[in-house]
Amino acid sequence: MDYKKLGFKAGIEIHQQLEGKKLFCDCPAIVHDPNKADIFLERKLRAAAGETGKVDKAAAYEMKKDKIFQYEACSSSSCLVEYDDEPPHELNKDCLELALEVSKLLNAKVVDEIHFMRKTVVDGSNVSGFQRTGLIATDGYIETSRGKVGVDSICLEEEAAQKLEEKEHIVKFRLDRLGVALLEIATDPSIKDPEHAKEVSAILGMMLRSTGKVKRGIGTIRQDVNVSIKGHPRVELKGFQELRYMVKVIDEEVERQKKEKKGESHVRKVNSNGTSTFMRPMPGAARMYPETDVPVIRVTKKMLDAVVLPELIDDKVLRFEKEFKLSAEDARIIVKSEIDFASYVKEFKKVDSKIIVDVIVKYPKEIKKRFNLEGLKENHFREVLGYLNSGKIGKSAVLEILVEILKGKKVNLSKYEGISDNDLEKEVKKIVSKNKGAPINALMGEVMKKFRGKVDGKKVMMLLKRMAK
Ligand SMILES: [Zn+2]
Repeated sequence: MDYKKLGFKAGIEIHQQLEGKKLFCDCPAIVHDPNKADIFLERKLRAAAGETGKVDKAAAYEMKKDKIFQYEACSSSSCLVEYDDEPPHELNKDCLELALEVSKLLNAKVVDEIHFMRKTVVDGSNVSGFQRTGLIATDGYIETSRGKVGVDSICLEEEAAQKLEEKEHIVKFRLDRLGVALLEIATDPSIKDPEHAKEVSAILGMMLRSTGKVKRGIGTIRQDVNVSIKGHPRVELKGFQELRYMVKVIDEEVERQKKEKKGESHVRKVNSNGTSTFMRPMPGAARMYPETDVPVIRVTKKMLDAVVLPELIDDKVLRFEKEFKLSAEDARIIVKSEIDFASYVKEFKKVDSKIIVDVIVKYPKEIKKRFNLEGLKENHFREVLGYLNSGKIGKSAVLEILVEILKGKKVNLSKYEGISDNDLEKEVKKIVSKNKGAPINALMGEVMKKFRGKVDGKKVMMLLKRMAK
């Protein structure tokens, strides 16, 4: 498809949940509280008039349905603030600091004063009927493989409640998630095509994770993509949870807009099977009005100067490749695991860094797959790496020893005790002369059968090759 010719325009809005406490109360930022609900409330939708005095078009659309909203909550993860029975507490300082950090990372201009606003929410996912949102920074950019992409705005927002079910005119929600802090990042519409949209999302996600202060895993980051082609109004594709389907869903939307010619601007829900379906009309401008319960926050130079930028994950991967002589793949695995790799390399100087990666990342996965055992901890890795470092065992013994540790057995090192290079050479010679004319792989098998766990396979192969000459 020639996206340029089609007049393709796309911008991305990212919503990232933050760790710690909620944005305006002391409740923990728990998205799924394991406790049973012990609080129950009910509300009817009231469509509040915006500052323009008009009732929002989207609100009116939902109102026609005359809905009752039922809420359940756990007192362990929600309080009077979530129930809209108490005004918001002071803005969570950690969230503000993170928002400033991300704003700097995205080269954005932080506002002098943060004013929180109320954004009308019509689907019942906020008990109060509105969501609090504060603009933190504007006019940023990121570098991509296709040039700069502008970042229009960075906001701090409240997460909505989780919908449990909808039956006729009753909609049920759970409040654990309500009020969890969200960082909203919106790019300008300069994204060039669906692949580029995916790249921009990946870069923003990587930057957010680099801070180490955001939630991880499915559902903790969501992308909305606004798409239009020449002659068609903007359509919002809402709720990408993973990037896998992004190109396909955007491409299908472009095809849909091509067929439809002049359609209505609206919001489409992105489904988990990689399709999208009509959700509601596009909300209008009447959605925002000032939140007078939250005082204006002045951003001082001191606050901005105190921001320390994190090392980006992508930069760290490159650094690890060089510093520890790792492959790009291994470096990424190690960085992702958040293990203090440098401390391992320092402690186990005689062990190849590649082998350290195997021990702490690859073997646990293999053991899970082959033996359905898990639960290896740092001290286990350090124990085994210690044996390797002191030459007590060979690499081939590591997996078996880790399995024994997991089975709660006492590790019997004498079973794996190494054999001196001299003795090994003698033993290999014996085996070669006993099996005259046997192929090298068969000889290798014989040696390894006898010394499994005690010798390094590479070393044996080298000896055999030398003797075969
Ligand atoms: Zn609370």
